[in-house]
Amino acid sequence: MENLHHDDNCIFCKIIKGEIPSQKVLENEHIYAFKDITPAAPIHVLFVHRNHCKNINEMVEKNPQNIIDVFKAIKEFSEKEGIDQSGFRVISNIGVDGGQTVFHTHFHLLAGKKMRNL
Ligand code: 5GP
Ligand code: ZN
Repeated sequence: MENLHHDDNCIFCKIIKGEIPSQKVLENEHIYAFKDITPAAPIHVLFVHRNHCKNINEMVEKNPQNIIDVFKAIKEFSEKEGIDQSGFRVISNIGVDGGQTVFHTHFHLLAGKKMRNL
């Protein structure tokens, strides 16, 4: 079993542990995925790894396998939800300029409408 790091003050660690309620859409031994509380699209899901780390750069540095775990879950969800053909967007915000507000690495999956080009 992999060594999972927690942060007692982290809101997403609390959601993973069930201390804060959430609307789960998928979980497995690595990943917990739940609906964003302020949806920016008809489907807006947050994918978090159970292993706490602050952003994708730290994840790549310390636990690159975690990135693969996240994207396998995203693939599974997109197929289950039937959006793998119509399409979706994945975003991970990093730091102040990236607009990151929760410092437990997470990936926004947005779908259910045609996104504007960036
Ligand atoms: P960030 O701004 O860090 O990229 O994304 C954080 C996201 O977490 C935001 O879209 C925000 O709506 C969502 N969020 C913050 N607190 C909670 C919560 O307690 N429950 C859920 N489901 N989403 C949350
Ligand atoms: Zn955390």
